[in-house]
Amino acid sequence: MTQVERQAWDVVVIGAGGAGLRAAIEAREQGMRTAVICKSLFGKAHTVMAEGGIAASMGNVNEGDNWQVHFRDTMRGGKFLNHWRMAELHAREAPDRVWELESWGALFDRTVDGKISQRNFGGHEYPRLAHVGDRTGLELIRTLQQKIVALQQEDEREFGDHEARLKVFQECTVTRVLKEADPAGGPTGAGGSGRVAGVFGYERESGRFFVIEAPSVVLATGGIGKSFKVTSNSWEYTGDGHALALLAGAPLINMEFVQFHPTGMVWPPSVKGILVTESVRGDGGVLRNSDGKRFMFDYVPDVFKDKYAQSEEEGDRWYEDPDNNRRPPELLPRDEVARAINSEVKAGRGSPHGGVFLDVSTRMSAETIKRRLPSMHHQFKELADVDITAEPMEVGPTCHYVMGGVEVDPDTAAATGVLGLFAAGEVAGGMHGSNRLGGNSLSDLLVFGRRAGLYAAQLAANTRPEDRPVVAEADAAAAEAEALLPFSAEDVNATTASGPVENPYTLHQELQQAMNDLVGIIRKHEEMAEALNRLAGLRARARRAGVEGHRQFNPGWHLAIDLRNMLLVSECVARAALERTESRGGHTRDDFPAMDRLWRRVNLVCQVATQPEIDAERPAVHGGGVAPADPGLSGLVGDQAGQIQLERRETPPIRPDLLQLFERDELVKYLTDEELSQ
Ligand code: FAD
Repeated sequence: MTQVERQAWDVVVIGAGGAGLRAAIEAREQGMRTAVICKSLFGKAHTVMAEGGIAASMGNVNEGDNWQVHFRDTMRGGKFLNHWRMAELHAREAPDRVWELESWGALFDRTVDGKISQRNFGGHEYPRLAHVGDRTGLELIRTLQQKIVALQQEDEREFGDHEARLKVFQECTVTRVLKEADPAGGPTGAGGSGRVAGVFGYERESGRFFVIEAPSVVLATGGIGKSFKVTSNSWEYTGDGHALALLAGAPLINMEFVQFHPTGMVWPPSVKGILVTESVRGDGGVLRNSDGKRFMFDYVPDVFKDKYAQSEEEGDRWYEDPDNNRRPPELLPRDEVARAINSEVKAGRGSPHGGVFLDVSTRMSAETIKRRLPSMHHQFKELADVDITAEPMEVGPTCHYVMGGVEVDPDTAAATGVLGLFAAGEVAGGMHGSNRLGGNSLSDLLVFGRRAGLYAAQLAANTRPEDRPVVAEADAAAAEAEALLPFSAEDVNATTASGPVENPYTLHQELQQAMNDLVGIIRKHEEMAEALNRLAGLRARARRAGVEGHRQFNPGWHLAIDLRNMLLVSECVARAALERTESRGGHTRDDFPAMDRLWRRVNLVCQVATQPEIDAERPAVHGGGVAPADPGLSGLVGDQAGQIQLERRETPPIRPDLLQLFERDELVKYLTDEELSQ
């Protein structure tokens, strides 16, 4: 066994995006020694890419806005599958989180009277997104980083060590959340019933392993989009936090709900999937098909009919006079727009490269476009040689966001069933129901990042030094052996008893293709069943994934490790999508096209079929021939039955005073008769 460095902190936060940094700031401000671990460079998290803004009902542009309206919009957007308490906390607390950011130095765009400016976005009744041009995520991360540096400077003055109470371990990947030995004599390590004891990971640059012990671990690892071929997501989005939670025994919910953003670039092929921000439509951009028709008027679903304009004239008037007109259907929630674009392309009315046209050039002056949408102007000019001030963009759906995630307690962000584990941001489930509204992620990160940091700190503070959980040597050794498995093939061209050594890149590409083709924007029973078959095959082959070279910055090795996570979360998505026989939000079934009120009462909960154990007895494998054909990496059941078991769980009833925020006519579309009578 190699030397594994050990450290002890009070709170470990995995992830340095908006959720992770906000959690870390809170935990440190509560006085806890807090370690932040991130697999990219500090400041490079996915949050940086966020463009349009942060949704918060500050009412700066329209005084009619308040938290109740935001709550209503969020529940409508999620088709009432959201955890109502999360949606309530989010709507109530988002304005404070934005003002707090400003007090920490964020420079938002302003209204003419000097308030934080707010822009329109799909599904939001009023202009609600606080923004910095179309580079809001960058400002958010810059501000949180600056706050972290300020806290570190305080510690430098007080302790002579700027990392005394807050340290960032950048370019480090966590591969396991470890738990303490079960006092009742049950299994230890990843599974078992014990509480969280710490994390195991490796430094990307050196390949060195480390263990950080802590009674509280916050997952803030973002999403899963890299399991799909066409995606707006960055390389980091391999579903690590989702998988770490599953492997530690914490369930995931709502994994069938994956958001396909309606507008990604479609051309040239090398940039397919890169996001075209919703701000383009929020600021007046219109969608047209190859006949030049504004087709979205044909796609307003019944549940939204009375809230959206029925004619182009009314839609256009809304930009000037929103109080007396209804909004244009280009601003429907994302799931609706994505499906509409998909239908137009399928019907042969698409653009030359398989998308539709998004035009802002006829709606705003070139100066305004460059000022309000500078990144989009630059992106299209540089990547596609298209000048969006003069010509339309070609756009089509791209995998963007996962609504599903770790099941958490809404108030404390504590993961279900694993004491000491917390989750916030995109890795957590429940908040957005079946579909997230644009802008509601950045606010979610801040609201629930703060809460996760607060309650993780409280748990750590309440753990007496003599009661702190300890990571067992055997568990650290087993996690190390697991991480080293891809090096066990001495010759990557060899064939083992169970098949050839596999190239992790090939497996990744096949996985992305399968998810894209078979569990994508429109789903069918046979295709999802086929996806599960392919995933089983890929899982078997992934056990033979082999890499050459050594542990110093070896991307092939990193990917081989990530594959375990991608396969786990992909199976959750496919299994849950197969189970849910209705269409709702980000889950569209060709064979069950309608929304079914009975399904609104159901959350699909994913857990690993057999509680996985790290096989501590297995010898370290480096230098020992090809990877074994046994259950391998995670020790999970590896047959066609898959690794994930699904459970249907009833959604909690929505609090009556919150239901009263809606008209009965609207509730009738979502709630069952039984619920309505209550
Ligand atoms: P991230 O910001 O992704 O951070 C995840 C962190 O976890 C990273 O630091 C990563 O290195 C780390 N990590 C992951 N796995 C591991 C591991 N195994 N070990 C250690 N570290 C790990 N939302 C909005 O509300 N408004 C917008 O305008 C908006 N625009 C967007 C534009 C684009 C192009 C995209 C792709 C998304 C946009 N979103 C927007 C969505 C939003 O950006 C994300 O949902 C959000 O940033 C996720 O934040 P997070 O803190 O949960 O995770």
